[in-house]
Amino acid sequence: MIRKCVFCLLLCVLSAGALCASIIETSSFAALKEHADHDTLILIDIDDTILHTKQAFGSDAWFYNKLKELSSTRAYKEAIGVALPLWHKAQEVTGVSLVEENTPSVIAALQDRQYKVMCLTTRGKVIMDATLRQLASLGIDMKRAAPFKGHFPITVSSEYGYWNQGVLFTGGGDKGKTLMSLLEKMAFRPKKILFINDKATHLRDVEKDVEPAGMSFTGLRYNRSDKKKEIREDVAKVQEEYFNKILSDEDALAIIEARRLKA
Ligand SMILES: [Mg+2]
Repeated sequence: MIRKCVFCLLLCVLSAGALCASIIETSSFAALKEHADHDTLILIDIDDTILHTKQAFGSDAWFYNKLKELSSTRAYKEAIGVALPLWHKAQEVTGVSLVEENTPSVIAALQDRQYKVMCLTTRGKVIMDATLRQLASLGIDMKRAAPFKGHFPITVSSEYGYWNQGVLFTGGGDKGKTLMSLLEKMAFRPKKILFINDKATHLRDVEKDVEPAGMSFTGLRYNRSDKKKEIREDVAKVQEEYFNKILSDEDALAIIEARRLKA
């Protein structure tokens, strides 16, 4: 009886290990190279994985903080109706920086090996041009080894996704469902999916849809931006106040200091 219990316990530990094994924590974007081959479709998140805004205002973290703040006094739908257009407006004008300096060369190396590489983002069609501009400003061209050419819409129940130049825009929709709709539309079924993203929830969203469809899944939970997400709210507030101009964090801090001295 004891032997049977020990065996059951061992089986539980091993199966739990197997479940967790598909999502690996990493601080290195180059980890993609270790897990990719010609049977793999490589998916790359954009915000806080490839790039981030040069200042607190307009960052991914700013958007979620703003949404939380607005949601405390009004309905969620109304809050998102205020926060999202402002975030979109910021994307049109903000400068962006790489999370890791070697990210463009890692992407280029994967493309040179003729692996299939694309971006998967919850950004929407409305900031499609701004997104492609931001990637180009960092020397990244996702068309080079994209699994599909051109641009076209993807319908996912009531939500809309869009494919353009190697980037799948889910427009706020579930990344797993939008990806599956794209793969079904294009009749493409890779053996393996490899996805790098700073959000574990988005990795699991993809995992839950691709595995039942017979594709193996490896997720890289990228933690290089985790510290950057702790933005200074007072800095972002001053930047929002001064928007249409984009103030750097340093300029916003100087204004805060000047106001403090004056008070
Ligand atoms: Mg992200």
